Amino acid sequence: MMAGVTSHTRVFALLGDPVSHSSSPMIQNAAIRDLGLDGVYVALRADTDEMVGFVRGLARSGGGGNITLPHKEKAATVLDVPSIAVKRTGACNTFWEEDGRIYGDNTDVEGFSRALRVFLGGDPEGQRVLVLGAGGAARACLVALIDGGVSEIQLLNRTRGRARVVARRIGGERVRVLDDEKETSGETFDLVVNTTRLGLDPDDPLPLDLSSLTRVGALVDVIYGSEPTPLIRLARDLGIRAADGSEMLIQQGAVSFEHWWGIKPSLDVMRASLSNQTGS
Ligand code: NAP
Repeated sequence: MMAGVTSHTRVFALLGDPVSHSSSPMIQNAAIRDLGLDGVYVALRADTDEMVGFVRGLARSGGGGNITLPHKEKAATVLDVPSIAVKRTGACNTFWEEDGRIYGDNTDVEGFSRALRVFLGGDPEGQRVLVLGAGGAARACLVALIDGGVSEIQLLNRTRGRARVVARRIGGERVRVLDDEKETSGETFDLVVNTTRLGLDPDDPLPLDLSSLTRVGALVDVIYGSEPTPLIRLARDLGIRAADGSEMLIQQGAVSFEHWWGIKPSLDVMRASLSNQTGS
């Protein structure tokens, strides 16, 4: 329970459907408490129309929030001032107000970028990367990988047409869309990134049979939770360094926090709140 809520307390909300599984309220409230700020962060289930109303209402009242599935693309159209990341990905996950205008960013881009740097110890410069999936998370990861200087990205998605649209919008010449998983067989990648939903449910099939690849340098699965996903388990069994999406979640939340409060939160406080919740 938040102590000391007053008529001055700034209100932030995660808007989406579903939102009840989200760790963002834990992370954000831990950072707010740590810095002694007068704010509170809640999760609100909202359909599209409600989301639009909440974005305007929360921003106008001096607060803001995050957007999650399935509203990130629609939210990008509500903003007065979209960031470059919003324009490049066509998606918004963070909003706030300045000078009477609604600003928005897609902090998944910078969040993935920072998390990758923590994991790899530097930028993925010159790396050959396989990205699985072509949804919202994939768009953010693609922008971050391209800005990080990768040499080549191969993109594999269940729905090929969606992958082609994403590659055209974001990738340019460095992204090649694969027609079939078989094309990865015998290949070598410095990095594999799973951005599909496969692994959210422990009974999900693997998004890719890693054992058919000749070599994988490292793997990131953007899904996070208390247990490693089956893909991360397989990677570790094959001797591949692997990380889940926890650090991306922390880092994207930290960038959002900086937009709202104008100061950097403690990453250690945010990480501790997440591991207390997931038990990891
Ligand atoms: P999305 O836009 O709905 O995209 C879902 C992706 O999963 C698409 O590529 C989709 O392929 C694929 N997929 C879904 N069901 C599939 C199946 N049965 N077989 C094969 N592929 C399937 O979702 P999103 O926003 O990109 O989110 C994807 C995941 O990333 C979620 O688990 C989310 O929690 C996670 N995420 C994590 C962070 C973080 O901070 N760690 C941030 C953002 C997202 P089709 O195009 O063929 O449907």
